[in-house]
Amino acid sequence: SDSHFPVPISPEEVDLSQHYPRYFPADKGGDGEEAAAPRRIRFADVGCGFGGLLVGLSPLFPDTLMIGMELRDKVTEYVKERILALRAANPGQYDNISVVRTNSMKYIPNYFRKAQLTKMFFLFPDPHFKEKNHRRRVISMQLLDEYAYVMEVGGIIYTITDVEELGEWMRSCLEKHPLFETVPEEEIKADPVFKLLSTATEESQKVARNGGQTFHAIFRRISLQEE
Ligand code: SAM
Repeated sequence: SDSHFPVPISPEEVDLSQHYPRYFPADKGGDGEEAAAPRRIRFADVGCGFGGLLVGLSPLFPDTLMIGMELRDKVTEYVKERILALRAANPGQYDNISVVRTNSMKYIPNYFRKAQLTKMFFLFPDPHFKEKNHRRRVISMQLLDEYAYVMEVGGIIYTITDVEELGEWMRSCLEKHPLFETVPEEEIKADPVFKLLSTATEESQKVARNGGQTFHAIFRRISLQEE
């Protein structure tokens, strides 16, 4: 059930001190001293599963705040424990990653402001094969409107799957959407993040072990004249 978790009423209500205590100490330390410029979450891993991507990204972008969004309670708790253990074993590292239990299909705008995110990840999402269940896919024209809203112009959306039909579906939605354009393949290959898509997550490792093919669609948020 996805009905028993708290949802912030707006992005301002997201308690960053709970997620990134090293950057947002709960005790602001008295008056006078202005806190450092507020930092924002910049990367979102949607349906993060066991958190392998966050763990891989953390040292690559040590100054970027990232969050995983995961629907399953137990899986979310596992990722929390995993991050706490990594912080304990590696002081000063992994302070920039966190996870939240939520339904990303309903609550993205509760977590992020307009143009807040510079990267969004959709790695090996559930395929929902049946036509009548396509509306449950995490990439759709409607949801891309929401993702475009929370993404900065120039930001990148990364998708990958081992299900060819889903890969084609995600690509075709992104191609049709006026606020995204494809990232050229040579740019993709030079992007250090690209390698993580097919190596860092638990699902990607399972696919690799079984020798499965993968299909990626990586698009850039662009602006329209009206914006
Ligand atoms: N991205 C991870 C990986 O590559 O290992 C996990 C892939 S797993 C096949 C899909 C994940 O998406 C599951 O952990 C599932 O619980 C989560 N999920 C499905 N629908 C979701 C939703 N609406 N909001 C958040 N997470 C969701």
